[in-house]
Amino acid sequence: MSYKTTNPYNEEVVKTFDAHSDAQLDKVLDTAHRLFQQDWRQRSFAERQTIVKKAAALLKEQRDDFARLITLEMGKLFKEAQQEVSLCVKILDYYADHAEQFLAPKKLDVKRGEASVEIAPLGVIFCVEPWNFPYYQLARVAGPNLMAGNTLVVKHASNVPQCALAFEKLFLDAGAPEGAYTNVFISSEQVATAIADPRVQGVALTGSERAGASVAASAGKSLKKTTMELGGSDAFIVLDDADMDLAVKLAVIGRIQNSGQVCDGSKRFILQESIADTFVERFQAELAKLVPGDPMQESTTLAPLSSLSALELAVKQVGQAVEGGARVLLGGKRAERKGYFMEPTILADVKPDNPVYYQEFFAPVAMIFRVKDENEAITLANDSPFGLGGTIITADVARGKKLASQIETGMVFINSPAVTAPDLPFGGVKNSGYGRELSDLGIMEFVNRKLVLVG
Ligand code: NAP
Repeated sequence: MSYKTTNPYNEEVVKTFDAHSDAQLDKVLDTAHRLFQQDWRQRSFAERQTIVKKAAALLKEQRDDFARLITLEMGKLFKEAQQEVSLCVKILDYYADHAEQFLAPKKLDVKRGEASVEIAPLGVIFCVEPWNFPYYQLARVAGPNLMAGNTLVVKHASNVPQCALAFEKLFLDAGAPEGAYTNVFISSEQVATAIADPRVQGVALTGSERAGASVAASAGKSLKKTTMELGGSDAFIVLDDADMDLAVKLAVIGRIQNSGQVCDGSKRFILQESIADTFVERFQAELAKLVPGDPMQESTTLAPLSSLSALELAVKQVGQAVEGGARVLLGGKRAERKGYFMEPTILADVKPDNPVYYQEFFAPVAMIFRVKDENEAITLANDSPFGLGGTIITADVARGKKLASQIETGMVFINSPAVTAPDLPFGGVKNSGYGRELSDLGIMEFVNRKLVLVG
């Protein structure tokens, strides 16, 4: 495993990084553990708040520098990278401002004695994070856990090492003591070692099902609590009464944002028959207009994929889809230019026996399905191993809510793209994982809810 920056726009290797040795990892765990025991957990909310708010302020001040690293390392459009950094500022501020209230002791209404639940941090939380939102994924664990009094050791994806280091430096610059937030460049074997280490008390992973299953198995062996934020193949249901302008606009955002590399991006477009032709024609026309190019330029509307392997996987999946009987309505190939660009692609006639039917496309590839009615739409939406999010477009919000209740996912958006915000819980069910990040739910994942009873 090698930690290196490769620019997906021009395929150039920019910088490589040495991995941590086992001894270095041990020292990192020791520092994080000692800091937790002797210092961090004893600090007041106000003290921790000062540091986390300072980190938010620095991030805001240096937004464009942070954003440039995202674009360099994983190819995101610079405008989207700026938005990601701004979202991280909001997440850090949110937890700095609300943690004390979320973690306040709660008095219980009980029959005997006087009982309350007080909330205490657990210790070192080990995090494994993906490259698709190189800072947002980190802010989702750092904000709540640092404010709760936990310390963090973070293994980021190997293709975004500069983002990983920039985020670690952010907290040091904000005045966090060494060991509060530490980045490590380590292998999967060392991840297993860290998880088994008694100094680690919890494990948070965002990534693929494969990585999730491996990390959750390691954590299970040593009885460590985990949260798993995994993949998705979200349905985007367009009902017969939908506003077509809105449906097409949100479909393009849902499928193309971050070049299609969003866990809760819209991936399966489920269309009621009466509007299907109109929707597909307009959706296809919009995707065909996208302009690939330098992600730093404002005129570019289609970014490259994050790596050669991501591109090769998407091309392979489209090949499998076609072999399995799918029709390509648009695109389907690697773009004929330098960089890891995939043509915006639409697949039709993907049947349940097609190998890609149950797969996630982490690329600008949309699968479209036609259904008779709402019941068929829900059956199809739920016919997935994943259960992360989903979107319903309808003029009748009550109808949308009724269907939302029947969708087996952790999030449903009605007449809205899949949005994320500090105060909205994020997470899934089924193979999309378990646990929640963000909101008050996110800060409750790695804490001890301790009963204190006076008899
Ligand atoms: P990935 O391969 O699972 O990588 C994610 C992280 O896990 C990286 O840091 C990776 O390290 C590490 N990793 C991979 N295999 C591992 C193993 N066996 N043991 C320990 N660590 C391991 O994920 P990806 O394919 O790059 O990212 C995309 C996936 O993440 C998609 O499925 C997407 O839907 C999902 N995702 C989910 C959410 C959510 O919130 N639910 C958010 C974003 C992404 P290396 O880079 O060093 O391999």
